[in-house]
Amino acid sequence: MKIPLAICYKAFEIVDLDKFFQQMNIHEYQGKEILKSFGVAVQEGIVADTVEQAVEAAKKMKTDYNSDWVVIKAQIHAGGRGKGGGVKLAKNLDEVKERATAILGMQLVTPQTGPEGKKVNKILVAQDVYYPGASETKEFYVSVLLNRANGRNIIMYSTEGGMDIEEVAEHTPHLIFKEEIDPKVGLQGFQARKIAFNLGLSGQAFKEMVKFVSALYKAYDSTDSAMFEINPVLKTSDDKIIAVDAKVDLDENALFRHPDYAAMRDKLEEDPTDVEASESNLNYVKLDGNVGCMVNGAGLAMATMDIIKIAGGEPANFLDVGGTANAQTVKAGFNIILKDPNVKAILINIFGGIVRCDRVAQGVIDAYKEIGDVPVPIICRLQGTNAVEAKKLIDDSGLKVFSAIALKDAADLVTKVLA
Ligand code: GDP
Ligand code: MN
Repeated sequence: MKIPLAICYKAFEIVDLDKFFQQMNIHEYQGKEILKSFGVAVQEGIVADTVEQAVEAAKKMKTDYNSDWVVIKAQIHAGGRGKGGGVKLAKNLDEVKERATAILGMQLVTPQTGPEGKKVNKILVAQDVYYPGASETKEFYVSVLLNRANGRNIIMYSTEGGMDIEEVAEHTPHLIFKEEIDPKVGLQGFQARKIAFNLGLSGQAFKEMVKFVSALYKAYDSTDSAMFEINPVLKTSDDKIIAVDAKVDLDENALFRHPDYAAMRDKLEEDPTDVEASESNLNYVKLDGNVGCMVNGAGLAMATMDIIKIAGGEPANFLDVGGTANAQTVKAGFNIILKDPNVKAILINIFGGIVRCDRVAQGVIDAYKEIGDVPVPIICRLQGTNAVEAKKLIDDSGLKVFSAIALKDAADLVTKVLA
């Protein structure tokens, strides 16, 4: 979605802009595929949907990677899986079977899923990289992300990697280092070396970390990602540096450049309303207010949120139905807005430039009739080509739709229905 820079002033105050930079999450196993393709060393693994596949995968890990032990890792779009019991070591095929049976299909609750948890549909059968018995492993934290405030990339890193990184960030933030990177210049060699040095490495491990960080940055940069978080990055007992986990946020607005990543979308992991909206080609962002809005064009949508705010309401969503709204898109928009129980009124604000207002009006009427009883008042402001005809259509329809042409009248109607 493009961010309109004009006209909006209140909207920028009330809307958390981060919500508009939409990101697509992918699973750990997919993140690792991407990392590997950029030469980042990873903990190898095979993804499985069933217990049988998991057992086969474990056998293959043995032949391909000589990994006697494997870890069974729940694949869900949330971190903290280890803490919730979604990451388990298996020392033989019986244990693989047992763990895979327990984890597949479970409702995994982690500090990041909320109390209802997330259903596990896939597991990753990964090589055990902590080599049994070895005490010389060390877990680090490394992530690359975008600092929107200054338009630079940051590499965050820490010697205190592993499952307690959140506590480290909260109680000992000085243990998390930051290296800023000018995106035009890219990561410089001295920066990669500084990171490896600050992580306390020397010799072979130092060299490996320089390579790791450089390849990681390249992966982040080339994929147009918003974030690559690797926690833990592991120094193995034989001084390899590998990614044991991968949390990747791809920038949705750049996905058209990466059809193979776009295909990694797992709709089962996403909010059903978001999926429905994207399937209907609607740009939808849920917000926390009480007035739903349906608008064509992102700039007008932002301005509409301003109007709602000025009229004493709070926008319940941002919804841009696009330049060619018809009865079908209007209906899809209605259905999505009405799923939100906080919505007390709906404001439709359409400018008839390419689309004719009377067509939209007919769309609103058809959609209204098809849905049956729309439980909240609707204010319909149609301006532009055939605005007068559109108003007449709505006024004559006998439905509980308030119509307006002028913006001010629409705002007054919002105030009135909320009173
Ligand atoms: P998260 O909890 O969702 O972040 O999942 P991770 O992939 O980071 O795994 C959680 C933890 O499991 C890691 O911090 C490791 O301590 C542990 N773990 C992951 N892979 C292995 C492995 O190959 N062997 C052993 N013994 N532990 C592992
Ligand atoms: Mn992790």
